Amino acid sequence: MASTIVYGCECGELFKVFIPKARLCEGMGIKEQYPGEWAKIDKEEQEDGEIELAKNISDFSGMNFVDSREQEEIACRCGAKLVVGDFLDTMKQQREG
Ligand SMILES: [Zn+2]
Repeated sequence: MASTIVYGCECGELFKVFIPKARLCEGMGIKEQYPGEWAKIDKEEQEDGEIELAKNISDFSGMNFVDSREQEEIACRCGAKLVVGDFLDTMKQQREG
């Protein structure tokens, strides 16, 4: 399954953000078991249409789908802004406690 995170804006708007595993795991400080592991998985997922599927689920759920490979900043209609890199930093900090 393609790795996505759900971000809820203060205004109630929901965003489903696709982040390739290579970036997500690296951003969170998780080590690969062998080099290139996640890049390979990301490629397979793309070929299998899993990113499209994630988008469809997002659309169906009424969420805004964001592909972080194309869009680093998410602008909510209320004016708030989310930067994917900042979000990953926060997740990493939470993980490390
Ligand atoms: Zn908002």
